[in-house]
Amino acid sequence: MSATHRCRYCQQPFQPSPYRPQQTVCSQADCQRRRRSEYHRQRLQTDSEYRQVCLDSPRKWRARHPDYWQHYRETHPEVVTANRRKQWQRDQARRLAHLANNHLAFDLKRSAAEVYWIGPRAGDLANNNVASGQVFVLEAVLRQAGTPMSSCKQQPSGVNPLSVG
Ligand SMILES: [Zn+2]
Repeated sequence: MSATHRCRYCQQPFQPSPYRPQQTVCSQADCQRRRRSEYHRQRLQTDSEYRQVCLDSPRKWRARHPDYWQHYRETHPEVVTANRRKQWQRDQARRLAHLANNHLAFDLKRSAAEVYWIGPRAGDLANNNVASGQVFVLEAVLRQAGTPMSSCKQQPSGVNPLSVG
């Protein structure tokens, strides 16, 4: 039978795990946290590869510690909201880039003599490098095209091509 050990941190007696008889730290959460952070500090000093992974690539570190990231999200809802907004902006930029590669969109633009974009999103458009004028303008052309045609049919004095002849 092995003698009871004393924890390196809290100085309390404890029974080491049968799998780790050399254990010098008890199983209390605080002591285990201190053990891990000390191990982390030591390895940072002695292991250059470990140092590189920990300090140069936080993304990889988070990937290997999903619980930490999950906890971080739960305790920082404002960061989650901001990230979601940034993701939405990235999605919009991707959508616009896709539209810019669409030949049909450019053909329609050429058919319009002059188009003005007026609206709250005009400011976003000016600040967005990916969103070329042609792409956003297409949206405006389609929206404006619907209105005069439907109102024309309702005008008794207007020229209705169906009634001519
Ligand atoms: Zn302890």
